Amino acid sequence: MPACLFCEILTGTIPALRIAEDAEAMAFMDINPAVPGHALVIPRDHSVDALAAPPAALAACMVLAGRVGRAAELVLGATGVTFLSCARPDGGQTVFHLHVHVLPRQPADGLSFPWLHKPGDPAVIETIAGSLRSALY
Ligand code: AMP
Ligand code: ZN
Repeated sequence: MPACLFCEILTGTIPALRIAEDAEAMAFMDINPAVPGHALVIPRDHSVDALAAPPAALAACMVLAGRVGRAAELVLGATGVTFLSCARPDGGQTVFHLHVHVLPRQPADGLSFPWLHKPGDPAVIETIAGSLRSALY
């Protein structure tokens, strides 16, 4: 089976800014943030997408995504959060390991769908990762 980018992030082969973990799922910062604080939540066990994943993996991802979203409300002043999971290329998926995007929202933040993948400033992403970590409960 070809290597999976997010499985390699889980094993640590590829680095990522992790912000939260539990037994079933892990959250880390997206390197191409659509909005400040854009994070991804993935199950530890590989599933291709939300259409293929077992219910327990979907539930675990949403539980952790909710925690990240609440942290974003607290420390980023997000007034809303968009949770999004793309399935299959026609659904907008580009990485084929189930993930939930956690997109902290602000009034008139200009986010529209689909967004362009544009690299963020690593220093800014790291600072936001630290804030989110400190607010997770
Ligand atoms: P999607 O296009 O819905 O499958 O989402 C894949 C997401 O993974 C995109 O938002 C990418 O910016 C993000 N991404 C790709 N490679 C990495 C990486 N090495 N670390 C963090 N996020 C990544
Ligand atoms: Zn994988």
